[in-house]
Parts: sequence; structure tokens; C-alpha cells
Amino acid sequence: MTEPLPFEVYAIRYATVQRTTGENFIGGDPHEASMDMDYYIWLARNADYTFVIDTGFNEAAARRRKRQFLLSPRDGLAKLWVDADQVQDVIVTHLHYDHIGNFDLFPRARFHLQDEEMMYATGRHMADRFFSAAYEADEVVEMVRNVYAGRVVFHDGDVELAPGISLHLVGGHTMGLQIVRLWTRVGWLVLASDASHYADNMNKGIPFPIVYDAGQMIEGWKTMRSLVDDPRHIIPGHDPEVMRQYHAPDPSLEGMIVRLDDEPHLIA
Ligand SMILES: [Zn+2]
Repeated sequence: MTEPLPFEVYAIRYATVQRTTGENFIGGDPHEASMDMDYYIWLARNADYTFVIDTGFNEAAARRRKRQFLLSPRDGLAKLWVDADQVQDVIVTHLHYDHIGNFDLFPRARFHLQDEEMMYATGRHMADRFFSAAYEADEVVEMVRNVYAGRVVFHDGDVELAPGISLHLVGGHTMGLQIVRLWTRVGWLVLASDASHYADNMNKGIPFPIVYDAGQMIEGWKTMRSLVDDPRHIIPGHDPEVMRQYHAPDPSLEGMIVRLDDEPHLIA
């Protein structure tokens, strides 16, 4: 069997917000300290394929939810020579507002989504604020319109999208959260999205407080570890450390974009 073509993988940091450790772990943290939350979209590409993973929120949503907006995901992609207008495949890890705003920036894309995520976002649990708070009803409705327009590709569990890229249903954070596994020059890499907001959620074994099923979330950490050769190649979804452990592909992109298919280390 020939090895798949490796993917280059990038994180684009488009927004940030100040938080404390107590907000990021169930049960809080007695040593309350600041622990900011960064917001990312991701890009995976090789000579044959380009996948955008999540689309982030837009400036209006940032204002409403009091997040600091740093960069339009469209501009972030442009800095990597990707034209959002031309993107054909967008992977939606889940339908939370910080992962699916900006649909409109991808007029030609089809959206890869798990059956269970659409069921969850349009079903009975959304009547409870605890589960619905991170969804925007208008965006979910827009995604339903995309279903009717034939632009949503539904997946039921794990699937290989192309050689070297597969989706894995883990649930936990939401009912239908999926993660992305990629073949890269440093081996297998997993984009965890919100299966682990911070590396410490997974490493300390303490879930993030927004959770549909804590049991599934904890199983998800095991699934992710089984999908990589080196657990350092599991990329958490909102961790500012990601920006400190990987290099910008170009000095002009410092603080904005980092290349993830690399060995992580502390950059001074
Ligand atoms: Zn998120």
C-alpha cells in the first residue's frame, strides 16, 4: 500500500477572550489563574486536496458575545493563498457558534457534518439553555437551508474523506462532535476541536464545563490517543499554547497562523 500524500496543517487564530482556569474545568480550580481562550479555524491541504475545518464566528457575533475579534477567517485563509470563494470542502466539527459562523464566506463549499450533530442542534435538548447556549438558532437554521440546498454531506460515524484524512465521531462536548485525523510529515495528527479545549482537559482528565455527555468526552480522549503515534500531535481546540508551541509559516504571520505538522516545543 502506498502512503498517502502528507497534509500541511495550519491553525488560524481569529479571536480571543480572557478567562480564568476555573471557567475551563468542571469543578473549577482552587489556584485560580488567568487562562485565555483562543479561537481557531484550521486548514489542511496537499497537492490534491484542500479542506477547511470549521469557519469561526464573525465580527457581529464577537461583539454580541464580547470576544475580541482579531482576523476574518477569510483573510486568514487568504494569507495562506486559499480563496474562500473556491473552497469545496468544509468540515464542521460541530455546530456551536464559534465553529460555524461565516458560512456565507464559502459559497461553493459542501459541509461535512455528523448526523447526530444535526439531530442534536435541532432536537429536544435545545429546549434547555444548558445545551443550547453555545448554538445560534439562526446559524442552525441556515445549516438546515444548506441541507435543503444539497450542500451538506452527512456522515454517520467514522469516514475517510480522502487518502490521509478521516473524520471520527466522538460526541461528548456535543452529541455529534467529530474530530479530524490527518496524515502529515510528522506522522498522524488529530485536530481535537472541542473534544479537548485545552491540552490540560485531556491531560489532567477534567472535562470542559460545556458538555453533553462527560462519559463520551472521556472516551473521546482515549480515541484520540489511539489515532496518533505521539499524543503531542493531538491539537486542542482553544488552547493559546498552540500559538507558543508551533512556528508561524512566515514571520509576518506571527501570532496569527501557525503550522501544526511539526514537532511542538516552547518557542521563546
Ligand atoms: Zn469551540
